[in-house]
Amino acid sequence: MRAGSGRPCALYGRRGGNKWIEAPCVLEGRPGGPTGQNASMTTLATAPASASTAPAGFIEKAPLERYVAPARPSLIGFSRLELMEALAGIGVPEGKRRMRAQQIWSWLYVRGVTGFEAMTSLSKELRALLAAHFTLARPEVVAEQISVDGTRKWLLRLPGERAGEAPHEVECVYIPDTDRGTLCLSSQVGCTLTCSFCHTGTQRLVRNLTAGEIVGQIMVARDRLGDWSAAHPGPGHPGTGEPADGQPGAGRRLVTNIVMMGMGEPLYNFEAVRDAILVVADGEGLGISKRRITLSTSGVVPNIARAGDEIGSMLAVSLHAVTDALRDELVPLNRKYPIRVLMEACRNYPGLSNSKRITFEYVMLKGVNDSLGDAHALVKLVRNIPAKINLIPFNPWPGTRYECSDWDEIEKFSEVVFTAGYASPVRTPRGRDILAACGQLKSASEKLSARERLALRAMAMTDD
Ligand code: SAH
Ligand code: SF4
Repeated sequence: MRAGSGRPCALYGRRGGNKWIEAPCVLEGRPGGPTGQNASMTTLATAPASASTAPAGFIEKAPLERYVAPARPSLIGFSRLELMEALAGIGVPEGKRRMRAQQIWSWLYVRGVTGFEAMTSLSKELRALLAAHFTLARPEVVAEQISVDGTRKWLLRLPGERAGEAPHEVECVYIPDTDRGTLCLSSQVGCTLTCSFCHTGTQRLVRNLTAGEIVGQIMVARDRLGDWSAAHPGPGHPGTGEPADGQPGAGRRLVTNIVMMGMGEPLYNFEAVRDAILVVADGEGLGISKRRITLSTSGVVPNIARAGDEIGSMLAVSLHAVTDALRDELVPLNRKYPIRVLMEACRNYPGLSNSKRITFEYVMLKGVNDSLGDAHALVKLVRNIPAKINLIPFNPWPGTRYECSDWDEIEKFSEVVFTAGYASPVRTPRGRDILAACGQLKSASEKLSARERLALRAMAMTDD
């Protein structure tokens, strides 16, 4: 059993004027599990037990897990077209499919209903037919932690490959702020990449999340926060009457922003991430605009342009080093797509402007990449690209060889970046009481007996 890894998920609040440092929501996985494969991932080597034992030249692990759809699939994450296909599959006449799909879409993504019986604009027969073939299941909440500052973290359970096999678990974090509420999502269980400072990179098990599981994280957050339209304030409050199609619920939403900065490399699960984001950004449904969705990549260059064309969200790039020699070590994918190639892809990212900037993430590693020379080289590197720079205090985990830079060094580094004209956020930790032990929620739950897990689950399901 691993100890909690101290992975970040720590978002940081204002500290000192308009300077910020923002730590990402980096989530935690569990090793172990059977083998499988996924065509969308590139495999250059077989998986070692941990990145630290990786042979020289090692860039990526093989994905080990494969998703097997349950007998009754969940409609969560379905696009309108997929809903129409689902309706066709259960015999709904062609002429009715578009309208029915639109009604179901609204019940799912505007009202957030959790059962077909609540879809009162559909006939009883159709509701029964739908229930016989599908579910509205979200990822199962295993546990919930709530910080005194309102930050919430959920441990979510996803099915494994075969019945009876250990399920997968990922975390999802909600960080409220004065003007926004940010939800940090995972795109994979584990990661095929092996960044040397990242705990996810040491995990053997990798499975792509489905689009439904990605959208499902948002559904869970809105359920738990009671963040649906006024007529449907949360789970257990099924809507009464016809949802106003095209009208997101009245009142202020709690989940306003999405960051794909949890576990996994989103651009190695391209199709599912794209499909999920397109559902989430639809203004007649969950309604979180692409400007408020940020996808973070370690630099999967061929998919950066594709993301610009097919997704169009905001982009964050995990740079972390200004020389290839160092980036090869920190982000081994750099050996495949070196800095020059990566920066070129960034420069060409469609739609960049002063109001649509790429965020460059830079983890502060003591004595490794935190000199003032590095800071000057960093601003030089991003010159001519509409950019923001996020300095991320390193979050240590057991066994790591890195340490977080001293606060003074971070401030000096930030000053250089700021003076060069880039906002360089300095943030103080949010949700420290629950996030200081980030990853421990999961480790703790793994140690529990079945009875304790049930109790934890019951606790998680209780509203505060
Ligand atoms: N795979 C994607 C997105 C998930 S990681 C990526 O690499 O961009 C999200 C961010 O957290 C990345 O910038 C990553 O480099 C950073 N990160 C990973 N481990 C960290 C740690 N221990 N401390 C601080 N930041 C970390
Ligand atoms: Fe971690 Fe992102 Fe690197 Fe994967 S790509 S190992 S999640 S930092």
